[in-house]
Amino acid sequence: MQTAAKRVDGKTVSAAGLDDEEVALAAAAQLGTILETVRQGYLDALPIAAAMITIEDEEPFIECANDLFRLVAEWDERIGDRAIARVPILRAGPIGNRLGVFIKGPDSAYQFDTTDGRPIGGRHFTVRFAGLKKVEGQPRRMLLSMIDKTAQVETERSLRSEMLRDTLTGLPNRLSFNEKVDAVLADPNFRDGQYAVLAVDMTRFSRVNECMGAMAGDELLITFARRLVSALRPTDMLARTSGDEFGILMRLNRGMADALRAAERIKTVLTLPFRLSDLEIRVDCAIGCAALTSSVASADEVLRNAQFALKRAKRSGTTQVYEPVEAQAVRRQFSLETELRVAIESEALTLAFQPLVELSSGRVSGFEALARWEHEGQVISPAEFIPVAEESGLIVQLGRWALDHATQTLADWDRRTGTRLPLNISVNLSFIQVSRDDVVGAVAGALAAAGITGDRLTLELTESAVAHDPEKVARTLNALKRLDVRIAMDDFGTGYTSMASLQTLPIDLLKIDQSFVTGMLEDHDSRAIVRAILSLAAALGMQTTAEGIETEALALALGELGCIYGQGFLYSQAMPAEDALTYWLDRNA
Ligand code: C2E
Ligand code: MG
Ligand code: MG
Repeated sequence: MQTAAKRVDGKTVSAAGLDDEEVALAAAAQLGTILETVRQGYLDALPIAAAMITIEDEEPFIECANDLFRLVAEWDERIGDRAIARVPILRAGPIGNRLGVFIKGPDSAYQFDTTDGRPIGGRHFTVRFAGLKKVEGQPRRMLLSMIDKTAQVETERSLRSEMLRDTLTGLPNRLSFNEKVDAVLADPNFRDGQYAVLAVDMTRFSRVNECMGAMAGDELLITFARRLVSALRPTDMLARTSGDEFGILMRLNRGMADALRAAERIKTVLTLPFRLSDLEIRVDCAIGCAALTSSVASADEVLRNAQFALKRAKRSGTTQVYEPVEAQAVRRQFSLETELRVAIESEALTLAFQPLVELSSGRVSGFEALARWEHEGQVISPAEFIPVAEESGLIVQLGRWALDHATQTLADWDRRTGTRLPLNISVNLSFIQVSRDDVVGAVAGALAAAGITGDRLTLELTESAVAHDPEKVARTLNALKRLDVRIAMDDFGTGYTSMASLQTLPIDLLKIDQSFVTGMLEDHDSRAIVRAILSLAAALGMQTTAEGIETEALALALGELGCIYGQGFLYSQAMPAEDALTYWLDRNA
């Protein structure tokens, strides 16, 4: 703005008739107003609550603020005071306290997340204090800005509580249970044996679900959970850890006895029948307990321990407490599995051959191929590693290897003797192979690769395989018969083969389990069973082999009863391929 000036009495006087001092003052006032307007304009343009605070004589007050700030701070300069001490949100509480510290301190900026300090319905903010550049002759100024985070915090909170809750029963879920157990384990005051975890499994739940439908199953779960709650103390934590399994975290005053007493109470509240629609059903449960000790690393481990005990509880029908040795057995099984995988892949397994002898003539009719595993200088029994192989699925590979290797060995013997030896080789077949592998393809492949005919191979299948999946077994065995392969039923008498399947399946040979053979001479019942099996086989046109013959007397008695073949330590233990061939040559020279 241009003002025309003239000189009056030696002083420069403006057009409006003001002297220098007055002009300076007027200009300063004008600048002040301009700055104020600019500041206000900036604050109003911001999308967040903001206020400029001026500190004069250690007394902070609000110089200007935007409408969002007025709303959040519930403050209005037309009614209240501009002094910070009069602004509700800045007076005390988490924001006010830190503001006081910031003003006195050396920092140029400070940002934090907080609430407005109200215990109920409080709001959440990200707050920032920022000092503005000091201007000579001007008071200190700072900018206070606040971003309202309430909606975001509440959404996160409700998502989290949903994440930690089982929607059906309203109980904490496994995640939340684990968090709680982990918190107990991490507490510096935690001592061994102060807490226990109980795993509770509703018995026969899947039956109810199958027979009455999922709705009834849900209703049962809810009622079951309510009963559990009624048996617990308010300080115990109950959670639904999986489908029909519940977890309880409880403090112990007198050791495990407390946990066992709680288990008793749970069993008692379950004795009354449950009402489901129009039906009354009885529900029982199995309970496994595990103590929290400093040797367990995580909640997952404690729960797993309780589940081991639970497994035993299901078998025994009584509440069980976890013993650390169980975990060792499982760990051994796990490491065995890893090592077995390596052994199979690196072909570290071998086959041993046990002679099968015709009882009437003493002639060796063939050999059974039995897997052997020498691991770190120790021979591990197939009774131990075959179940591991079956459980892990490794048996498919192992079984194929045994088939290939056994047929190759027979072909090799033929080659070395320059004849087609009158020998039959037996290979064991697991029910897992029948259900998961293309056994027929594998057998055809092995025979073709070795160049031997199917009539020189016997496959031994245990009774349990038949019970497992009778239709698949029937299809597989019939297809194997088309390859001319002989089928033997191994360990006969120990399973539950029905007469019907014995009659319909193409079985050529029954191998009488050694448990009947061994005590046959002394034990009347065993002898009766062996006799019955022999006449059954004769009636069905099957051949027979007695397993586990250790004495001459047994061999004689079995021969007299009409058993055709025998196998056992009397003749020989299973031996390496080389020795087996020598054994045969010695007896057939
Ligand atoms: P199995 O097929 O019933 O084999 C006979 C078992 O009885 C063999 O045990 C053999 O050494 C043992 N045996 C033979 N004669 C006597 C005797 O006079 N007295 C005593 N006390 N025992 C005798 P092994 O080799 O320990 O094999 C155990 C089981 O492991 C086998 O029983 C078979 O079910 C399984 N198995 C072995 N190799 C394989 C394989 O390659 N595949 C599959 N699926 N299973 C196999
Ligand atoms: Mg066998
Ligand atoms: Mg057997």
